[in-house]
Amino acid sequence: MTALSGFVPLVAPPSPAPDAALIFAFSQDRLLVYLEGKAARVPVQDQPAGLGLTLLRQQYLGTLGQTHCYSAELEQGAQPPAGMALKGLRQLFGLLPEEHFWAAGRAVQVVNWDRTHQYCGQCGAPTLSRPTTRAKECPSCGLLSFPRVSPAIIVLVEREGQMLLARNHRFPPNRYSVIAGFVEPGETLEEAVAREVREEVNVEVAEIRYFGSQPWPFPHSLMVGFTAQYVGGEIRPDPEELAGAAWFGPDHLPDLPDGISISRKLIDWFLAKHRG
Ligand SMILES: [Zn+2]
Repeated sequence: MTALSGFVPLVAPPSPAPDAALIFAFSQDRLLVYLEGKAARVPVQDQPAGLGLTLLRQQYLGTLGQTHCYSAELEQGAQPPAGMALKGLRQLFGLLPEEHFWAAGRAVQVVNWDRTHQYCGQCGAPTLSRPTTRAKECPSCGLLSFPRVSPAIIVLVEREGQMLLARNHRFPPNRYSVIAGFVEPGETLEEAVAREVREEVNVEVAEIRYFGSQPWPFPHSLMVGFTAQYVGGEIRPDPEELAGAAWFGPDHLPDLPDGISISRKLIDWFLAKHRG
């Protein structure tokens, strides 16, 4: 189900600089965009310096289709030029063209990694960027630091035409979604699925099948989606994690997550199957 984006990640910038590139510039995780009514647009320049703003750092990201892409970090408190605004990425879903939204998700993660790996985590020496790999190298002790990606599983559990949905304490009233959680070091994805479902709702599952994946750059997750079949246990939500959990059929649905997330794609897959 996961679409391929047409994005080719690259590290070494083109030389000479391209005539036109998409510039994903962030100030404290907010993206610089043109806002025109209900639409947002990423600025196009030959390179980040073309924005005419003070840049702390920049990175070449690669190509989206035929278009080169850069990320840049603006200073704190940067003032957007006339007609432009700084917006949180999640607010921009549906306003930006979707491929630009997901490219911005790549960009913000590179910007954050660049900012937080200026010094070696082992010996404290200033790091150097590797010319052809997305990595920082410590010239003193040799430690390599790559952008952080944290895998998380997300699973739709089925039982006789019903799906297991849960709500956490932060959700709006009556909002439910599928079970999700981070993968522990040393764990397989399937083990993470079985453990999270057991820990969160006291239910045992089997027939764990891959569904699709989705980068979730808030701040650096990779959501790996699965379906699974109920085999035993009565729902008992972990009160630390959840405000409730229940089985739902297609005829009585709670408020569901919005369309941006793989959780909604899992739920829509289940509903399409059971509504025929
Ligand atoms: Zn070091």
